[in-house]
Amino acid sequence: MELNRRDFLKLSGIGTGAAVAFSLLPYTAAFAAPREFPLKRKVKETSTVCCYCSVGCGAIVTAYEDGIIKIEGDPDHPINEGALCPKGQAMAQIHQVNGEPNQYRLTKPLYRAPNAEDWEEKSWDWMIETIARRVKNTRDNNWNNSANRTDAIASLGGGELDNEECYLLTKMNRALGVVYLEHCARI
Ligand code: SF4
Repeated sequence: MELNRRDFLKLSGIGTGAAVAFSLLPYTAAFAAPREFPLKRKVKETSTVCCYCSVGCGAIVTAYEDGIIKIEGDPDHPINEGALCPKGQAMAQIHQVNGEPNQYRLTKPLYRAPNAEDWEEKSWDWMIETIARRVKNTRDNNWNNSANRTDAIASLGGGELDNEECYLLTKMNRALGVVYLEHCARI
């Protein structure tokens, strides 16, 4: 049989087409099969405020079952309008890292007694009572009657405090007669 150039091109085209169709068969079958995953997953979205600094950016946390899927900036929030700085974007790592619970996250107070080398785990009740007792004792033992204040206690705020927390902390310190109020950003 003699093949001219046109016949050769026709036969080559048919052969290539058949080969491509044959190789696609498994994919075609896979696409036709019903999906194993539900199209809708029951995720829950909760709006929150970033815990890292007093800018107070708004964020939306998306959770599925026990895990957090993502945390993104809240586009409706008047402060950040959807943007988050790198700290805010990494907020999910407080709870989990690479899908696993964050093993370094502290969930109970740690206490190191004076001159001790090791930290002990304490309950929140013990910690709050101990702090309150020490503040009261220090204040009572170092009260300046003429100035109506104590110079023995200082308060150091942190960048994680938000506006409301700063307001309450300042009120409490003023009520206690504490005059040395500072913030870590000014030291
Ligand atoms: S740490 Fe970043 S994202 Fe969080 S409140 Fe401050 S600026 Fe906003």
